[in-house]
Amino acid sequence: MDDAAYYSELGRLRMLGGDAALDFANTRHWRDGREIDFLTGYRALVDWAIVAGLLAESEGDRLREGEGLMPLQAADVFSAAIRLRDRWKIHLGEATRALTPARRPPEVLRHMVTTALGPPDLAIAGLPADTLTGADMALPLARAALAIGAFLALPHAGTLRMCEADPCGGVFLDTSRSQKRRWCAMDSCGNRVKAQRHRLRMKAEAVEPAKG
Ligand SMILES: [Zn+2]
Repeated sequence: MDDAAYYSELGRLRMLGGDAALDFANTRHWRDGREIDFLTGYRALVDWAIVAGLLAESEGDRLREGEGLMPLQAADVFSAAIRLRDRWKIHLGEATRALTPARRPPEVLRHMVTTALGPPDLAIAGLPADTLTGADMALPLARAALAIGAFLALPHAGTLRMCEADPCGGVFLDTSRSQKRRWCAMDSCGNRVKAQRHRLRMKAEAVEPAKG
């Protein structure tokens, strides 16, 4: 089965993390030697969240309409989402580098997650049936926080890893039986690493005089 993917003018972003919280972190990563941020604004956040399974299509429709009516609130929600994602990425970077089992997530991250979950029960109950208010515009942020909170709090199958392709920065849950998954995807990062190694080997062989 093909992985779900978010398409934008920046290209295709596949949901390879194995968890919406990890896919959220992967909205900013390295590709072809430069860092790309797929979350370019509130609209992109909403569109991405639908593909990531954090918003229903119908919720997305209402939020897109709401953005037209409440652009300032939408911009605030977007900024908060980016701050949360970037702090989350720092935590994941530390967690994947740590040789000891994951430590308790730092206070600052826990505080950001609980703050982003508010207003009360928005993340769980969803949008009101009648009109939208500025506070309701925070739904994509609240759902991303819910995903991060669930990832931190609940046990999950697989091992958290960071893609070994350099630079990439993608994170994923390794649920393979062998526990040897090393890349976001074999057909992207895996192939790039193999091609790189091949070029280096050719170079080394060209420099060293042939034996025999
Ligand atoms: Zn990768």
